[in-house]
Amino acid sequence: MATPQTQQESPPQNRIPKQGQTIQTRRLTKVYPGGTRAVDALDLEIENGEFFGLLGPNGAGKTTTIGMLTTRVVPTSGEMWIAGINVRARQQEVKRIIGVVTQFNTLDRRLTAWENLYHHGRYFGLNRSDSRREATRVLELVRLEERGKSLVDELSGGMQQRLLIGRALVHRPEVLFLDEPTTGIDPQGRLALWDILLQLHREGQTILLTTHYMEEAERLCQRVAIMEHGKILAIGSPEELKGSVGAETIMTLQAEPITPAFIGALKGISGVHSVEEGPRGLQVFAGDSRRLIPQIAETALAQDVELSDISVSTPTLETVFMRLTGRELRD
Ligand code: ADP
Repeated sequence: MATPQTQQESPPQNRIPKQGQTIQTRRLTKVYPGGTRAVDALDLEIENGEFFGLLGPNGAGKTTTIGMLTTRVVPTSGEMWIAGINVRARQQEVKRIIGVVTQFNTLDRRLTAWENLYHHGRYFGLNRSDSRREATRVLELVRLEERGKSLVDELSGGMQQRLLIGRALVHRPEVLFLDEPTTGIDPQGRLALWDILLQLHREGQTILLTTHYMEEAERLCQRVAIMEHGKILAIGSPEELKGSVGAETIMTLQAEPITPAFIGALKGISGVHSVEEGPRGLQVFAGDSRRLIPQIAETALAQDVELSDISVSTPTLETVFMRLTGRELRD
């Protein structure tokens, strides 16, 4: 029998967690005043050098999770460690070894891009010459070397976001936290940002990112946790998660009427694994699609069902989310 949750004790405050883990949480929970359980007994382990993504719709609890890990939000219960340091017990120490980019633009608008970096270095205790060197290094890293003398307001939204990421890197943090880093950035700016993040990852930076864009998680992250209602529903590499759908192809049909007999007949076609009604139409999960399209058309004809469209796709993280929750990732 499992121990009832209420009787579980927190582990000792400074217990050293597993080696090689940059981030570990144990039953991390946040219940906001008013009763919203934003994060619910979260167990997470993120390895050194890993690019990890929390993927979920708005309200899933992603920002609250990052908030707790970065000392901005006080947990209701549970424990967490960063580089072996207990976050609740040793907040000041943790703040010095993390880099955080929240959803708020906190750049100093009176300063230039370079000065924003330099002063951050000074704030983190670097001497003048180290801070100058780091500011210049980071400016290059986020590909703003030409814009060092520009005031913040002279930079585009995408450039400002890159500068925010750069600022979080000046003191060479153990882990970089990014909360929805490309929200509100145009597609070109997003690609530029992705490039920089992938380069950081190649250089060994541990990164925890939250996003509600499945393409972003798929493109960037080695491992993704799909989150909803404060819980992790599934975790794995994008390939593993997509593989869990158990189909190579998904055919989405626009058909009228959708009858149990039609669904039954579709399920009877060889190669079809399952048929589900989704928000975008009837979804046929199958192996190879090539021979199936004519068979689906024939089945519709035989069942007196009018078929107005068939679209063929391969599983994405969106598919995984939909199968787990019956809902779409995007609102
Ligand atoms: P996400 O980042 O995935 O969009 P959040 O962590 O922001 O999710 O929010 C999770 C849940 O907690 C939501 O239901 C949200 O309304 C609620 N919430 C977030 N911040 C607060 C707060 N300061 N007070 C009360 N409820 C909050």
